[in-house]
Amino acid sequence: MSTSNDTTRTPFSRGWHRVGEHSWAWLEPDGGWGKANAGLVTDQGHGLQIDTLFDLPHAQHMRDSLALTVPGVGIETVVNTHADPDHCWGNQLFPEAAITVSEHTAREMADGHRPEPYRQLLADDRDLLLRHYLRDLNTGFGFEDIELPPPARTFSGTLDIAVGGVTARLIDIGAAHTEGDTVVWVPEDGVLYSGDLLFSGVHPVMWGGPIENWIAACRTMEGLNPRVVVPGHGPLMDRDGIVEFRGYLEYLATEITHRFEAGMPWREAAVDIPLDRWNRESPERVAVTVATMYSQLEKSARVAFESVLAAEAAIASGVQRRPRIAPLRTSELDGRASDLLRMPRSDGDLARRFAERPPLNLFAVLVRHPDLFEAWLPLALQVTDGSLSAADRELVTLRTALRCGSRYEWDQHAPVALAAGLRAADLARAVNGPDDLGWSARQKALLRCVDELHEMSTVTEATWRELAEHYDERQLIELVMLVGHYHEVAFALNALRVPLDPWIGPSTFPGVPAA
Ligand SMILES: [Zn+2]
Repeated sequence: MSTSNDTTRTPFSRGWHRVGEHSWAWLEPDGGWGKANAGLVTDQGHGLQIDTLFDLPHAQHMRDSLALTVPGVGIETVVNTHADPDHCWGNQLFPEAAITVSEHTAREMADGHRPEPYRQLLADDRDLLLRHYLRDLNTGFGFEDIELPPPARTFSGTLDIAVGGVTARLIDIGAAHTEGDTVVWVPEDGVLYSGDLLFSGVHPVMWGGPIENWIAACRTMEGLNPRVVVPGHGPLMDRDGIVEFRGYLEYLATEITHRFEAGMPWREAAVDIPLDRWNRESPERVAVTVATMYSQLEKSARVAFESVLAAEAAIASGVQRRPRIAPLRTSELDGRASDLLRMPRSDGDLARRFAERPPLNLFAVLVRHPDLFEAWLPLALQVTDGSLSAADRELVTLRTALRCGSRYEWDQHAPVALAAGLRAADLARAVNGPDDLGWSARQKALLRCVDELHEMSTVTEATWRELAEHYDERQLIELVMLVGHYHEVAFALNALRVPLDPWIGPSTFPGVPAA
């Protein structure tokens, strides 16, 4: 086998990939929640399986593929790198194998996650944001009929297992990613199976720690000088990847400690830490590491699993983001701001909708400039209650929100659009723009008007002629001002980074939010 570039040459595709003479990696794109990798060490028909995936269908598929790709291997040992479900819930499909884990992992397995409570959590609809988030994460997985056979063998320190003529060395790292993590090292091949001590391309989570142990674990792994590293999630890595990952953990440790010492609450710290340098998937997962580190710094009980996931859901949905200018807090309200935020009398659809709600975060930000807000609000109300029909107005607004990448604007207006008579199919079609075959001639012209104003700051002759067949002079003025108004609103929402309003529920925004 070639000794260089194996990590970059191996595609990140689902299936078994040979990574050494005796070493195989099962890769599971996209490496996100539950999409864990696994491994096989084999020689002379003997086999040691590393981790068994998240559910029985995935584990069965992996086993069936193994029989085709590496025929005639008997799996005598299963090693679980740790107790997280995505690494051991397929164990029962290896009944002939001796399940081997560290003593730490055995303890965590005994009082850790169980399939039934997990299924109940997925079905729980008390927190819609959380349910939506979890449903997304667990799409494609099923947790029926999972049994958790107890480990047959436990160890601490290191354990060498002979697989035919090859040695697989199990190294008990102790608490890092979880309360007990093990790596499997195949010195003959220079292959390291790290479990979730390494995540490739996706933000890691720390349920265990302290983080210093995890950083030390990285140094241990670097010291092995591996040629190929099979991370717990994501594409293959090499030794440089471990060094980079350690840098990320060191960065997080410093940033989290600073914020803890400054008295910032953990939920705020989770969105306050800049991750620009660490371009990885699922930035909301940093909330887990922050919550775990805070409880250790405070010497308090760990934050409950559901609460941490709820914080992740709030960040992922945009409800919790790091505002550039924060919405005015209740404690900051003075008499003038209170008066301004009390919705002025209006019959507009939006005004009615907002009447029984807490102030929009948008308004709570803009009211920090009370003179401007006082002058602006009447215009905002006027354009939402003018001479265009509500359905036309909302179609224009939604298309503008899409073009501007404003999730906030879309989420506020989607329910208003449905109430105004647009159908769910129209909202889905808004993504396709004016060329979709489902629009009437009038709707096509409206959408073209939005797109042209967005791209060229004017409207072409052809579009204007079409519009003029459907709308009078006042409506044409209003239309252009309406598109401009919702650009202005989207600019404010995007640039000031206004958090979504928590009462709005899961986002239905089909576009790409502006950064
Ligand atoms: Zn995992």
